[in-house]
Amino acid sequence: MATASGNPGWINGSCNCGKITVSLKPPSDGLHVCHCIDCRKFTGAIAAFLLQLPAADFKIEGEYRTWNTIGNTGLKVGRYFCGECGS
Ligand SMILES: [Zn+2]
Ligand SMILES: [Zn+2]
Repeated sequence: MATASGNPGWINGSCNCGKITVSLKPPSDGLHVCHCIDCRKFTGAIAAFLLQLPAADFKIEGEYRTWNTIGNTGLKVGRYFCGECGS
């Protein structure tokens, strides 16, 4: 992700193919690293980096797809991704 135009101080990014764009206002805290099996499978990495922030501080544009599952804690987890490139 790169800093870009739009709201000053916000961070902009996109999926690999560019059809989904996201922007967010960086929170002062709320960064989590999760190593659960579900996060590892979804990201294909050893851990997922997660941000917790108010909905008003996050924007997503484009036709994203969703996939819902139950996380290790037993709570519902929603995953959002691009149906074109999968990121
Ligand atoms: Zn994409
Ligand atoms: Zn997790």
